[in-house]
Amino acid sequence: MESSVLNRFKQTIRDVKDFPKEGIIFKDITPILSDSILSRDVLELLKNQVNGLKIDAVVGIESRGFLFGMLLSQALEVPFIPIRKKGKLPYKTLSYRYDLEYGSAEVEMHVDALQKGMSVLIHDDLLATGGTAAAAAELSIQCGANISAFSFLIDLEFLQGKKMLGKYSDKIFSLVTY
Ligand code: AMP
Repeated sequence: MESSVLNRFKQTIRDVKDFPKEGIIFKDITPILSDSILSRDVLELLKNQVNGLKIDAVVGIESRGFLFGMLLSQALEVPFIPIRKKGKLPYKTLSYRYDLEYGSAEVEMHVDALQKGMSVLIHDDLLATGGTAAAAAELSIQCGANISAFSFLIDLEFLQGKKMLGKYSDKIFSLVTY
């Protein structure tokens, strides 16, 4: 069952060349979302990967991390906490600025989203260099939480994102790697 779901998953991801800029092959997961049965099976695999871990909340990263992140939090029966780009969350926030290839980015989380001592699962659709997921980890730590694990649909292994996340948790899961 697992390998057949992974095969269907891999076949359904759409590669979009040169988006959002030249040289990038964008991994488009919208065809997965169009297939409700496949999405349900994918969720089951994501849930199985973190089976037995202490997870008090799922922290999802804007915006594609919200899609399966929210479903995962429901399946695990824990809160879902959104991380958004600066200026999008309405209430008081904590923020974290990090470097990109060109320039920098800033992400935010509501100050009361997590409580001290909570163990969180950080989820996004794709792990590339790891900068975004590391920023989510830093924000969670600012709130006093521990990082239980990271969960991704896709890991672009050649970009070595896992290296950047290793200091937060050694549990870094993905369904498929490229
Ligand atoms: P990074 O911070 O470099 O790990 O980049 C991860 C973030 O950028 C995630 O939120 C991804 O959704 C997005 N991302 C980076 N590269 C790609 C790609 N090739 N296809 C789809 N999304 C990507």
